[in-house]
Amino acid sequence: KPAQKTVQDYIRTIPDFPHEGIMFRDVTTLFANPRGFRMAVDQLLHPYAGADIDVVVGLEARGFILGGAIAHQLGKGFVPIRKKGKLPGRTIEQSYTLEYGEAVVEIHDDAIEAGAKVLVVDDLLATGGTAEAGIKLIEKLGGDVVGCAFVIDLPDLGGRARLEGLGQEVHALCA
Ligand code: 5GP
Repeated sequence: KPAQKTVQDYIRTIPDFPHEGIMFRDVTTLFANPRGFRMAVDQLLHPYAGADIDVVVGLEARGFILGGAIAHQLGKGFVPIRKKGKLPGRTIEQSYTLEYGEAVVEIHDDAIEAGAKVLVVDDLLATGGTAEAGIKLIEKLGGDVVGCAFVIDLPDLGGRARLEGLGQEVHALCA
């Protein structure tokens, strides 16, 4: 009998996307598979099932898909952190450095209550720049990040060390 597929087995790698030399981890095949998607969501939320969490924050865009499902399963609300210019209400913003240039992310300034315990979710941790920007936004609003959950951690890019250096707990399903 063949071994059961793992989360990793549903993820494919697309070479040279979005530019030459990048091996892009494509999670659309994971999300499209009912068993794979459920496994990923269940495994991501597992450490937090009994934990004291008030709200789930997802990072645009694949963090919305995972974060929404996790929030639903935990019986909590969901808050998006979006690229600049997408949120309709009053926002605070945080810029961060990319390989070429910089990016800006935003959160509604009333989306997190002071003292709220927050779980941060995204599909993939690379350099940790995106997650760090998200954590800063949550902390500016007085939120307390209790965990950062990712399907994929690329440890060679240093994201885990960076977030752990900020005192964060990182939970990832595969490398
Ligand atoms: P970082 O800020 O940690 O360097 O990059 C992580 C962010 O870029 C995440 O929001 C993630 O969705 C996106 N990202 C970077 N590389 C990949 C990749 O190979 N596959 C996917 N699915 N997302 C990636």
